[in-house]
Amino acid sequence: MDQILGQVLRNAVWERLDMLADLATRADAQSLVSVARSELPRLTEGWRAMLTAHEPDERGDCPTCSTRWHRCKAPCSVWQVAHEHLVAGGLAPQQDLRRPSRRKPKVPAQTRGTTPGEATGRHALIPQVAHH
Ligand SMILES: [Zn+2]
Repeated sequence: MDQILGQVLRNAVWERLDMLADLATRADAQSLVSVARSELPRLTEGWRAMLTAHEPDERGDCPTCSTRWHRCKAPCSVWQVAHEHLVAGGLAPQQDLRRPSRRKPKVPAQTRGTTPGEATGRHALIPQVAHH
């Protein structure tokens, strides 16, 4: 029973995400504005709630991902995904980590294969969409 309810719950969330992604590509400008006004705050609230549960504890571990026997160092996978999609993905181009900044990379050859022009081009603003 719990397993079925879990499946129903997960399907409802996946379908909601599919619907929102679909709206972003199909809806006309006017509907898109009203959807953005109602849905963006819900999405940011969702991210906040999820990230709050994954804030590092005083030992620098994620309390949600850690078990009694295995400590999970922060930032855990939830924070890594959040950074990848919300910051590195292009919502905040001025904070693009691919640009040289105060942090000096130890190994310059491993800069994820980006060309110099790529970080400033318009296509750098398009978030990476994972298809599943
Ligand atoms: Zn975590």
